[in-house]
Amino acid sequence: MSFYACGIRYQNVGQYGRDKKSLCAFCTNLCGVLVTLEDGKAVKCKGNPDHPLSQGFTCQRNSMAINWLYHADQLMHPLEHVGKRGEGKWERISWDDALGKIGTKLLGLKHEHGAQTVGVVG
Ligand code: SF4
Repeated sequence: MSFYACGIRYQNVGQYGRDKKSLCAFCTNLCGVLVTLEDGKAVKCKGNPDHPLSQGFTCQRNSMAINWLYHADQLMHPLEHVGKRGEGKWERISWDDALGKIGTKLLGLKHEHGAQTVGVVG
């Protein structure tokens, strides 16, 4: 079972008592966390003391993870910018459309400028 929402991703990587082992994805440290579920919904997230690197540590960002995950303004679907730059107009599109458009754009950049034109950070 996975939970996705923008910058945070709880990927189930095992069981820890009643909790699911996972990783905080708010930053590249990927601290080990334990997620408590109630009726399939994440209700609590705390540091995993058995994680070999973070050893139970989580920072303030992760302490807000559950609130952030279910916030009413949380973006749960792709939006495409429409209209003029700066107008702030967006239109909901499907995941297939979003991934297709991103792939087409990346391939165009690769063909025009070479594979080194795009880097991934994060
Ligand atoms: S708990 Fe903090 S330091 Fe660890 S991955 Fe999440 S945001 Fe990064």
